[in-house]
Amino acid sequence: MKTIDEQTAEKHKAKMAKRKAMQDAEVAGKTVEKGLLIVNTGPGKGKTTAAFGLALRMIGYGRRVGVVQFVKGAWHTGEKDAFAAFGDRVVWHTMGEGFTWETQDIKRDVAAAEAAWAKAVELMADPSINLVILDELNIALRYDYLDLDMVVETLKSRREGLHVVVTGRNAKPALIEAADLVTEMGAVKHHFSAGVKAQQGIEF
Ligand code: ATP
Ligand code: MG
Repeated sequence: MKTIDEQTAEKHKAKMAKRKAMQDAEVAGKTVEKGLLIVNTGPGKGKTTAAFGLALRMIGYGRRVGVVQFVKGAWHTGEKDAFAAFGDRVVWHTMGEGFTWETQDIKRDVAAAEAAWAKAVELMADPSINLVILDELNIALRYDYLDLDMVVETLKSRREGLHVVVTGRNAKPALIEAADLVTEMGAVKHHFSAGVKAQQGIEF
């Protein structure tokens, strides 16, 4: 073990005490509690999986979570099966028909987005649900499958205390403006560029 002399230990203690006082004061200054509108966007990996991380946190407190998947349809995902193990604590709707370049049918895409949005509205109105994840809603907005103003207004007027997470690349500025927390995942490096295919347990 690295040896630490008395003087260094004392100096460290004083520094940390000062840091703690600052931190405590900062925490004490934050008193608001509210349902958050959270947006996970950006070109890097981790938007959807971070949202499901929050779902696990909620479930850990015995709370209920609602999920609507706007795009994924054809794909089987591990998370869907895993969350099924939590029974009615998770309400899950996979509404998407798949990526837009796969369906190649705008009428079908719009109909799927509208059906998904209807489910989203239903889940957001359910008082027993604490967190609603609208996975890849940004994609439906990007292609104008849903009316942006209508969606943003509905999200803004969500039930008090309800947390909503929206995921997907290219979040619209109006949604970012309305959100409380926005995280941009940066694509620093992705194995896909090196020819690595989508793998079980990592991508789906
Ligand atoms: P994840 O579901 O793993 O959290 P994500 O939600 O951030 O990823 P999406 O934009 O929904 O990513 O893309 C879905 C899939 O595309 C993911 O499986 C992911 O690994 C892959 N992907 C994400 N970012 C990149 C990238 N920069 N280049 C290539 N593929 C990517
Ligand atoms: Mg995603």
